[in-house]
Amino acid sequence: MGTRGETSAAEAHWERLAPGVARRRMPGWDETIGAIAGRTGVLVVDTGATVRAGAEIRQEVTELFGLPVTHIALTHPHFDHVLGTAAFPDVQVYGAVGLDDLMLRERDAMRDTAVRHGVDPAEAAEAADLLVLPHHPVSGDIALDLDGDGAGQQVLLANVGPGHTAHDLAVLAVGRDGAPDIVFCGDLVEESGEPQAGRDALPHAWPAALDRLLALGGEDALYVPGHGAVVDAGFVRRQRDELAARFGVA
Ligand SMILES: [Zn+2]
Repeated sequence: MGTRGETSAAEAHWERLAPGVARRRMPGWDETIGAIAGRTGVLVVDTGATVRAGAEIRQEVTELFGLPVTHIALTHPHFDHVLGTAAFPDVQVYGAVGLDDLMLRERDAMRDTAVRHGVDPAEAAEAADLLVLPHHPVSGDIALDLDGDGAGQQVLLANVGPGHTAHDLAVLAVGRDGAPDIVFCGDLVEESGEPQAGRDALPHAWPAALDRLLALGGEDALYVPGHGAVVDAGFVRRQRDELAARFGVA
């Protein structure tokens, strides 16, 4: 308790990728949560599988950076990435265009999928009841100025899909002071296993989505998969080629 040199839970959970940029791999489904700090607030990438998980993320990010969470970007509508959003009050939520309609339509299905994957039924029901739909649709890409004055952390939200789903959003934190650009890929890229192609995947469009992702980040960016360790452009390119072979596209 407060022993000097003791690492806080937040410090232990979060991997620092660059000044002001960190990620956590969540317990349970191992989904990546990202955090990009400006001077006045933090953008969080994805929100976890339950409202409780979202609340823990919010508390830890606030502790890590000493700033409130002001923006959220949702990479795609799978339960482990979006069901924690209700834990973030008064936050501006961004998602690929059409994500709001899809989530509204699929609210019950998302709840059932979460339960099937082991989320406590009461927690899944709570998250579905409190479901927060994105306020800001992203088509193409938009630049986000976290501090609103052009001088702070710049973030690019890019609708690079479809691929893993019909609503895949990538988030690029522009590198500052010589740090590399960092791309949060959602589940378009997975390192810990084969990319998961469910019924809502668009396999034939997936390799092209990875081409757009590579164009976004370039050769020198760090790429943060939806599941697994941070990778480089070469890894993403190999995964693109494997997916193309797996799905029979050029
Ligand atoms: Zn997914």
